[in-house]
Amino acid sequence: MSIETVSLSYTYNQGSPFEVRALDRVSVKIGDGEFVALIGPTGSGKSTLVQHFNGLIKPQSGKVLVDGMDLSDRRTNLRQVRRRVGLVFQYPEYQLFEETVLSDVAFGPKNLGHDESESRELAAAALRAVGLDESIFERSPFDLSGGQMRRVAIAGVLAMGPGTFVLDEPTAGLDPRGRGDLLKHIVKLREAKNITVVLVSHSMEDVAKVAERVMVINRGRIEMDGPTKDIFSRVDELEGMGLGVPQVTKLMRVLKQAGKQVREDVLTIDEAASEIARACLGAGSRARV
Ligand code: ADP
Ligand code: MG
Repeated sequence: MSIETVSLSYTYNQGSPFEVRALDRVSVKIGDGEFVALIGPTGSGKSTLVQHFNGLIKPQSGKVLVDGMDLSDRRTNLRQVRRRVGLVFQYPEYQLFEETVLSDVAFGPKNLGHDESESRELAAAALRAVGLDESIFERSPFDLSGGQMRRVAIAGVLAMGPGTFVLDEPTAGLDPRGRGDLLKHIVKLREAKNITVVLVSHSMEDVAKVAERVMVINRGRIEMDGPTKDIFSRVDELEGMGLGVPQVTKLMRVLKQAGKQVREDVLTIDEAASEIARACLGAGSRARV
């Protein structure tokens, strides 16, 4: 699926003394099958932008197009758009409400008109896809760990079969292991179903690991947009916005400044290890990681 915004602006509490301009002429295009990250400091407009992608927030000025359909057009079926663009909110576990895990996840498919047994099957498949197995299906979602609850909530959106999956800070508040696991499942899902993924994150490590392209938003404006490596090579600009770069990228920069002939566009520990081995230990040697 493709999503496009054209000069999209949004102001909260418009016309009151509490006006906040959250988006300022944002034009972005996300193509079918892309894995894009949206990063930016707190309050920069990330959540406001992604809530436009499925019509949850109506454009005040500018346009949002989903597969070419204009969401401001009255003829556009918004219900269908919401189903196709699955949005997982920040802290989605607060929206769990059913008595069992399986019925919670089956709620969406039922709402879309699937019968009881189909809904349960779709729910079970979505739960397995995020790494949860049968043993918890009949438990109360409220008895699970934080990471498990988060995955149940994500499965609830997945069970509706979205073509685009928008995740707003899906790993926030999880421990490193929970974060790593969840990311792995997101990557696998995207590969298995060839869905478009938009990942909102303030973890540069997460973004470096999974995204092919990064959009940087600051004070409601898109300030950078490009391949992940290119964006993370702009360390000074990112730091100027209060954003960091992955630790390994920083390490390479320090080595370079110390006179070592290493590449700086390194994003993962494995890449860093072989680059350091090549430049510092001589060609042919390999670092053990
Ligand atoms: P982010 O997700 O990047 O942290 P948001 O999109 O949540 O940013 O917020 C962008 C700006 O809009 C911030 O200044 C925030 O305080 C403001 N804002 C967000 N939601 C509301 C709201 N419901 N009412 C008023 N202001 C809001
Ligand atoms: Mg947010």
